[in-house]
Amino acid sequence: MTPSSQTKNLLKTHRALDKKIEPNAGWRDLPIGAIIPRGGTAEQFATGDWRTIRPVWSADKCINCHRCWLYCPDMSWVSRDGRIRGVDLTFCKGCGICANVCPAKVHAIEMHPEDDSKADEAAKEG
Ligand code: SF4
Ligand code: SF4
Repeated sequence: MTPSSQTKNLLKTHRALDKKIEPNAGWRDLPIGAIIPRGGTAEQFATGDWRTIRPVWSADKCINCHRCWLYCPDMSWVSRDGRIRGVDLTFCKGCGICANVCPAKVHAIEMHPEDDSKADEAAKEG
């Protein structure tokens, strides 16, 4: 059976800590409870695959107040030259904080079900 994307992510994190875990390992090779025994692994663990809803951003509506950038717990919003450029979903857990702090009159971020985006992506791929 192919490991799920969450298992793959956990294995990737654990491999960064323990070189004895082989690249083709499965969930049985994870420690009990898949515990992470020490810090410093956040970069290896793409938490974006926990997401069930995702932020959808409208560049046209955005006024670049940077509230999303400031409040996002995963530092997912990309800012360059004083302007928001988009959201990097690698670590975005879909908490919705960005959509909540985006000014109500602007409403530049909407949370959409992850399944809708996956269906759209699959349709584009044909
Ligand atoms: S949904 Fe949460 S984690 Fe994702 S970009 Fe918004 S604030 Fe960040
Ligand atoms: S909070 Fe909303 S308006 Fe402000 S920068 Fe983010 S997306 Fe743009």
